[in-house]
Amino acid sequence: MQKITVIGAGTMGNGIAHAFAQKNFNVNLVDISADALDRALETIEKNLVRMVSKEKITEQDKANTLNNITTYTDFIQGVKETDLVVEAATENVDLKLKIFKQLDEICDPNTLLATNTSSISITEIAAVTNRPSKVIGMHFMNPVPVMKLVEVIRGKETSDKVTLSIMDMSKHLGKTPVEVNDAPGFVANRILMPMINEAIYTLYEDISSVEGIDTVMILGMSHPMGPLHLADFIGLDVCLSILKVMHKGFGGKKYTPCPLLVNMVEAGKLGVKSGEGFYDYSDGPRSKKVATQFKK
Ligand code: NAD
Repeated sequence: MQKITVIGAGTMGNGIAHAFAQKNFNVNLVDISADALDRALETIEKNLVRMVSKEKITEQDKANTLNNITTYTDFIQGVKETDLVVEAATENVDLKLKIFKQLDEICDPNTLLATNTSSISITEIAAVTNRPSKVIGMHFMNPVPVMKLVEVIRGKETSDKVTLSIMDMSKHLGKTPVEVNDAPGFVANRILMPMINEAIYTLYEDISSVEGIDTVMILGMSHPMGPLHLADFIGLDVCLSILKVMHKGFGGKKYTPCPLLVNMVEAGKLGVKSGEGFYDYSDGPRSKKVATQFKK
């Protein structure tokens, strides 16, 4: 595989494009929003500059990586003649089904179609295509250039050959793939999201403050980042979408999204990407200022 297309240039799409481009793949990065594509290129460049300053890569590596990425708002142009598509558009089942139907119509029959979905059924996505054996989950973690894990999710009809090829590709990117079966939230989010939701309930019920809850999990459980802070980095809209998929898939109270989470998403407070979530990012993503709404 030489040519990769990444659909969606948001939080994950820019990182996925970066990871492939740094390993010398030709990457087409596609988004419906030209602004999202501009922001993605800025983020990739900023991250590469940081890697150069830490002497992890050279100036030449940085230039090559940026040269390997071409951006498109035109879906058809962006996805034709590609060996592998990694879809990282908004976490919405109807949108993903529409995208995979289009991909199946436009792409060469040999093109592999992967999705970075956090929770949506790979089997359901594969079923709208005529190549279900070539559809697979390739779930990168945020931030992609740093995080080592890729959950490789087999749909009901994903072939052994395609699974092996995506496991090998993940290793080639310097990642550690873990093969899992298809179920709402797979492994990572099935375990992580109930914890994040419970942390939000703990805040909602005024058991402790934003900083209090995060400090308990950092110092008490040796987590590198508190669950509320992590939710801001994932995107509160993404967390809510994942919880809804798990709630629909498994039923039961334990997956009911906390009303505070629903309320914050409705108010457009999505975390780092919107500038405010549980913390205030008006001074940049590294800020640890608690949002005014949650100041005691
Ligand atoms: P995001 O909201 O940051 O970005 C989504 C991007 O998709 C936007 O730029 C949007 O313009 C674009 N988009 C929407 N419709 C499109 C279309 N039809 N064609 C092309 N682009 C389109 O979302 P994100 O956090 O990057 O999440 C993307 C996917 O990755 C989701 O499936 C999510 O569940 C998954 N994921 C997210 C995280 C995380 O930490 N945020 C981690 C792992 C996986």
